Amino acid sequence: MIDHPTPLPIHELRAQLGEHLQENVPMSSYTTARVGGHAAALLAVGSGDELEHAVQVLWNLEVPFFILGSGANLLVSDRGFHGVVILNRAHQIKVDAAGDPPSVWAESGAVLGTIARRAGLRGLGGLEWAATVPGTLGGALYGNAGAFGGDMQQALIMAEILHPIDGRLSWTADRMEYDYRTSVLKRHPGQAVILAARLRLQPSTPEAVKTAIAELSAKRRSTQPPGASLGSMFKNPQDDYAGRLIEAAGLKGMRVGGVQVSEVHANFFVNDESACASDYWQLIQLVRRTVQEKFGVQLELEIEPIGDWDSEMQLVEKRISE
Ligand SMILES: Cc1cc2nc3c(=O)[nH]c(=O)nc-3n(C[C@H](O)[C@H](O)[C@H](O)COP(=O)(O)OP(=O)(O)OC[C@H]3O[C@@H](n4cnc5c(N)ncnc54)[C@H](O)[C@@H]3O)c2cc1C
Repeated sequence: MIDHPTPLPIHELRAQLGEHLQENVPMSSYTTARVGGHAAALLAVGSGDELEHAVQVLWNLEVPFFILGSGANLLVSDRGFHGVVILNRAHQIKVDAAGDPPSVWAESGAVLGTIARRAGLRGLGGLEWAATVPGTLGGALYGNAGAFGGDMQQALIMAEILHPIDGRLSWTADRMEYDYRTSVLKRHPGQAVILAARLRLQPSTPEAVKTAIAELSAKRRSTQPPGASLGSMFKNPQDDYAGRLIEAAGLKGMRVGGVQVSEVHANFFVNDESACASDYWQLIQLVRRTVQEKFGVQLELEIEPIGDWDSEMQLVEKRISE
């Protein structure tokens, strides 16, 4: 039996959030995998104050919501999300070159690559790795994004957090309880929202930063496929690589509907522009099961499923068993 979601209090939401609240918005337009059903409502916020106001209103009205950055780590169900998506476009950036250490403060909707390049223009490095990771500062802090030996755990000095009971808080990296591609926020979704953060930088030169970013970007282009995807689908297991296991299981090129295990990098699942979210889900199950059977390794998702997946998973399981 499929549950019918409670309708949103749209009039109340419009009264408190404004007329630019959009209804019935396709999430495929807002995710890098370009799949996903409709969000019941979407609100774009352009500043930290707007973000804070929207979150407070939704907490008060007890309406389900999530913060959307660039949608680079999200697999939204074909059945969509029955709540409000807050599209975070709060993107102020301030570089403090004179501080000890030098640092950059940014709102959580700022794009990570823009933050790294802005610091570089002032002759400050340390975030070159981050310039190559798609997404916003908020998404990166939430999932402890990392690449080429760097990650948010090392970069974070202080995050400005909004908590439903305690209000505004300052959290250090310790308080974020970081681990490989996860944080306390990712382990307990919906508990708090990241408003802004200050990241550590180090002295460099504009030329050195520019060159390092160009080299890392070229390396990425030569090892990862172009096209619509979510980046790495699974976390690397201890002392191994998810991509190596998937390839060794003979799954490179495996396709379900419009989604395929990349021939370039087996941990990337690429949408040929005709895929739906359940194609992704079926391929995830197939890969997980095969790797488990062949190597006894349980692959853990790095990406995050969002929305109504319970009924979707039942349908997928039914289809697989038929
Ligand atoms: C081609 C490609 C390559 C990639 N390579 C890498 C890589 O090298 N390393 C890596 O770590 N990742 C990589 N990824 C994954 C992705 O880039 C990261 O996970 C990124 O940090 C996601 O940021 P986002 O803004 O898109 O977050 P979203 O996908 O929009 O959101 C992710 C989660 O963060 C939450 N969130 C976002 N903002 C906030 C906020 N302000 N407060 C609270 N919660 C928030 C969301 O609600 C959601 O639960 C790659 C993805 C792609 C498509």
